[in-house]
Amino acid sequence: MNTQASKYSVLVIGGGSTGAAVAHDLALRGFKTTLVERGEIASGTTGRNHCLLHSGARYCVKDKESAIECIEENMILRKIMPDSMELNGGLFVAVNDSDMAYMPLFIEGCEETGIPYKQYTGEEARRLEPYLSEKTLAAVWVPDGVFEPMRMCMAFLATAKKNGALVLPYTEVKGLHMEGNRVTGARVWDRIQKREYDLYADLVVNAAGPWAENIARMAGVDVPVVPTPGVMTSMTGRLCQRVINRMNVSSDGDIIVPQRQTSIIGTSSWTVDDADYIEIPEDHVQLMYQRGSEMIPQVGKVKPRGIFVVARPLIGRKGQDEREIARTFEAFDHAVSDNVEGFVTISGGKTTTARAMAETTVNVIADKLDVEAPCQTRDTVLLSYRDYYLI
Ligand SMILES: Cc1cc2nc3c(=O)[nH]c(=O)nc-3n(C[C@H](O)[C@H](O)[C@H](O)COP(=O)(O)OP(=O)(O)OC[C@H]3O[C@@H](n4cnc5c(N)ncnc54)[C@H](O)[C@@H]3O)c2cc1C
Repeated sequence: MNTQASKYSVLVIGGGSTGAAVAHDLALRGFKTTLVERGEIASGTTGRNHCLLHSGARYCVKDKESAIECIEENMILRKIMPDSMELNGGLFVAVNDSDMAYMPLFIEGCEETGIPYKQYTGEEARRLEPYLSEKTLAAVWVPDGVFEPMRMCMAFLATAKKNGALVLPYTEVKGLHMEGNRVTGARVWDRIQKREYDLYADLVVNAAGPWAENIARMAGVDVPVVPTPGVMTSMTGRLCQRVINRMNVSSDGDIIVPQRQTSIIGTSSWTVDDADYIEIPEDHVQLMYQRGSEMIPQVGKVKPRGIFVVARPLIGRKGQDEREIARTFEAFDHAVSDNVEGFVTISGGKTTTARAMAETTVNVIADKLDVEAPCQTRDTVLLSYRDYYLI
């Protein structure tokens, strides 16, 4: 137990991959940690995403910073939470001349960002993945994988609980308490017991994903978080064993992720004001089928099992071209940006980079509180997700 850290209490708002990883990091460094989540754990963006443990290859040409973050975290997560992962790898497939023209750039990008890769001919790729289009000209293997988002959050939080954290699902923040320019806690609504009460803390972390703006507004500050939804269609049956990506600059409908007995095609990207009520544009759904079929024609022949949408918490400003917004992350110390003390927002990134996001956030917190407590999450193997309900 770090006796310096144990003097301080931190309240984390949001039980997605970011908040869960932050709670784990805080508890491991010895901070008194409480996490509140208005729904079930992972009921926000995290529980409804594509489930792709990114190798970073998707970003290796245009967004190298994100690519490097992803490959580093991919390697760490497979060590620290093996039972939340399927380490099946991924193929980037070229099905036309324009894809083939992109391939040298892609390989150069993998080399520059340290992503291991292996090249296959179209024929070899089709031997690995028989449902790939007959038009497949070539493919490149990278260490993509598939994660179970709920299990990831449960593994982070099981370990946080073992280290003393209090985890409160179905607890919604209704307002923040302020003393002068300092955030001192939150007024929360217990949705099970149907009662309101107060939680006080030395520092509050806003890890509310695409709802981060709403929480920031409660402290009278603004964060540059743009809710950026994407549509996904889940198809009946496992049409591939590995993650199948199109060999192109990341765009719409160019990933197929095998998830248990389904195959999820995604995704698209646009911006909204309200992350709670998002209409599913029919043309995006059709685009998923069309683009998915170009890589795996069987997509057009099997039944969809579900169509869903969820918003990314990207860092940027509304009106920006959302495909141009970097997929990296940032921790905002509101004392520096807005003269509001005791309040830190973490946003951007992805589930694959949740651990790194937490490390950055808790480093900011430790500095602010003048506590010497180095991060230990890189090498700490997490408890099984199964322990979440046992502790
Ligand atoms: C379409 C799409 C596909 C994606 N696919 C992938 C992928 O394959 N791989 C990958 O690594 N990343 C992927 N991502 C990115 C990833 O899903 C997000 O970056 C990540 O889930 C964000 O996690 P978070 O914890 O910050 O946000 P969230 O998971 O949204 O967590 C925030 C939580 O805050 C809670 N909350 C909000 N308001 C309150 C309140 N007032 N009180 C209490 N709690 C509150 C919410 O209920 C929510 O659970 C994808 C994103 C999208 C949109």
